[in-house]
Amino acid sequence: MVSRFAPSPTGRLHLGHGWSAILAHDLAAAAGGRFLLRIEDIDGARSRAEHVAGIGEDLRWLGLDWEGPVFQSQRLALYDAALGRLRAMGLVYRCFCTRAEIAASLSAPHGPQPAYPGTCRRLSAEEAEARAAAPHCWRLDMAAALARAGGDLIWHDAAAGPVRADPAPQGDIVIARKDAPASYHLAATVDDAEQGVTDVVRGVDLFEATHVHRLLQALLDLPTPRYHHHRLILDATGQRLAKRRGSPSLADLRAAGADGATLAEGLRAGRLPTSFSWPNS
Ligand code: GLU
Repeated sequence: MVSRFAPSPTGRLHLGHGWSAILAHDLAAAAGGRFLLRIEDIDGARSRAEHVAGIGEDLRWLGLDWEGPVFQSQRLALYDAALGRLRAMGLVYRCFCTRAEIAASLSAPHGPQPAYPGTCRRLSAEEAEARAAAPHCWRLDMAAALARAGGDLIWHDAAAGPVRADPAPQGDIVIARKDAPASYHLAATVDDAEQGVTDVVRGVDLFEATHVHRLLQALLDLPTPRYHHHRLILDATGQRLAKRRGSPSLADLRAAGADGATLAEGLRAGRLPTSFSWPNS
């Protein structure tokens, strides 16, 4: 039994991250398994070394221990190999669109649209090759990928039970960023398999991502872990915790005098510090 906590070092951890880490840690501890830390830092522009150090401080403060970390920025060759396999299968294509171009085409009143309108899917192989030196990401041809995977793709969620993967509404998702041979989806899927993760614990905000990950597992012949999507902690106004909304970080709670071990025990018993709440409670 192997679980993991996989934060992105783009800011300090908040209480929701701490809760996720505690759940993943405790699941492994109860089974006599391993709990891994993985730093998801392929976004070089937003990742910061000081936040990596902060993650270790915060987890120690909560009384957790872990193996690792591994850094995704040091594992790009693994993702590049997976991208190469998807390219060889003809399931990905170069996309040269800017964010502004995509936004402009999506605001056209054509009813419900997939997230990306597929503009670059329609480039010929020669056209795409000719522009290959220009900045581009790689997108999954969702329809072709689903056809290739064939049949029902099932994954198991601890709370929801068996789930049939339905990634189609997400359209041609990004498989590799403009500046790296992977996106979150590809790197996380490859790493969970390569690290032997049997149980993925993460917030229910990533439930939809699992549809995509299940598809990638089928395409790349990777095992499917068990999933545990947990409820999200809310702030005093009932909103999800988020760095951009200025939610207090674990470091803020520590600076205000909180004790990490007491906080962790409280969370395990379903108790939150004041000014936080559970959904529908
Ligand atoms: N790195 C992601 C995040 O911080 C979590 C990825 C995952 O648990 O799969 O939101």
